Amino acid sequence: MRAKIVAGNWKMNKTLEEANTLTSEISGMVADEVRGDVKVVLCAPFPYLLPVKKLIGDQTRIVVGAQNCSEHEAGAYTGEVSAPMLASMHIPYVILGHSERRQYFGEGGALLAKKVDVALKHNLTPIYCCGEPLEVRERNEHEALVKKQVEESLFHLDAETIKKIVIAYEPVWAIGTGKTASAQQAQDMHAVIRKHLAGKYGQAIADSISILYGGSVNAANAKELFACADVDGGLVGGVSLKSREFVEVIKSI
Ligand code: PEP
Repeated sequence: MRAKIVAGNWKMNKTLEEANTLTSEISGMVADEVRGDVKVVLCAPFPYLLPVKKLIGDQTRIVVGAQNCSEHEAGAYTGEVSAPMLASMHIPYVILGHSERRQYFGEGGALLAKKVDVALKHNLTPIYCCGEPLEVRERNEHEALVKKQVEESLFHLDAETIKKIVIAYEPVWAIGTGKTASAQQAQDMHAVIRKHLAGKYGQAIADSISILYGGSVNAANAKELFACADVDGGLVGGVSLKSREFVEVIKSI
């Protein structure tokens, strides 16, 4: 049975006060309304990780995640945040390879493989993002690109270690655009990713890895997306900033 996960990616949004309000609202609603087998991950900006974690308290269904970490463990890297720092704050998840990091910060496969390794070394669960830009889909090269993204940053892991990864398929053309992939497009790509994992690690391991869909998920489309056989939850951007709608998305799983 794969873990069902809905992660909210707050990106670079909210003041501290607003982050506290959002956390309290989500936490209260999740406690009252969400089934016990769904894991909710709030990926807050670095400065808010500890305040958000404190507000969540002993609510076990919600945990905190970071949106990135350095490939280095320590040293003269001004402005960076390391995996050991996150681990020392007991932050269990970290998003790696988000398309905005790839696009604006030039992150690519080899660097992301290092980030995956350092995160795992410090017992963080990477939520590894992959996904194709529109022009790649229009050339019908989307499956090849996503398989390559998975290979170049994850396929160096051994069979025991790959089980610790969560994958998020996020077509770049659907992120923050209001254009979501159809349920069929999402299912097709998730099946491609799972088959690729099975080819390398065997079906049992591939079947144990959660693959989330991300890209303009909202309360109106989440049910259909989450009903797909190979979609194990969502990575949610814009809607994760609105407590009521985010909880409706979580309840759609
Ligand atoms: C994201 O940033 O990971 C994302 C999926 O954003 P949105 O839901 O706003 O498309």
